[in-house]
Amino acid sequence: MRERVVVLGPPGAGKGTQCKLLAAARGLLHLSTGDLLRAEVDAESSLGQQVKAVVARGDLVSDDLVLAIVRNRLAIHREGWLLDGFPRNSTQAAMLDDLLADLGQPLRVALQLQVPEEELVARLLGRGRCDDSEVVVRRRLQIYARETEPINAHYQARELLKCVDGLGSVEDVATRIGNSLDEREHGEETIC
Ligand code: ADP
Repeated sequence: MRERVVVLGPPGAGKGTQCKLLAAARGLLHLSTGDLLRAEVDAESSLGQQVKAVVARGDLVSDDLVLAIVRNRLAIHREGWLLDGFPRNSTQAAMLDDLLADLGQPLRVALQLQVPEEELVARLLGRGRCDDSEVVVRRRLQIYARETEPINAHYQARELLKCVDGLGSVEDVATRIGNSLDEREHGEETIC
């Protein structure tokens, strides 16, 4: 069974950390849209040049541009994958549905990593990046709650949503995720 998984959750939930482990453990492609955008810029591709211009203006990269980057990667990768950081809003979720229908690569599960807000703030401040002041971190969490969290309902309605507790050691969370994906393969009931 091909693993085709969207990994959802607020900033700091551990998506990047867990996707790296899961990709290595199961031989999956880890598509992080943040990493992909940076890679396109570094490669000086035509998409990369557009991204660079948008970022230089201080604007957000458009849904269409991010979708084009995801499309490029998925179109040439027929094996399993993990999407990390995409979709980020309901427009992108609808775009991804259409793209996967086009490619004949149905999504198998949308995995939501759940971590309480105070722990997220502590983790993100602990990363020590200069742009991660508490005010900035709380604002990013608000944007997540407003724009990204509603996507959960989109996947729940399609019976694809699977919630995993993201508290505890990195290894414990990885084990929970692995168990959760395997459960799904055996067709057991999934509850969030
Ligand atoms: P995301 O991709 O969801 O924003 P990251 O994987 O970048 O999250 O993790 C955010 C921060 O939390 C990082 O500093 C990471 O080291 C830390 N972190 C990740 N998983 C855990 C965990 N299970 N317990 C404590 N800290 C964690």
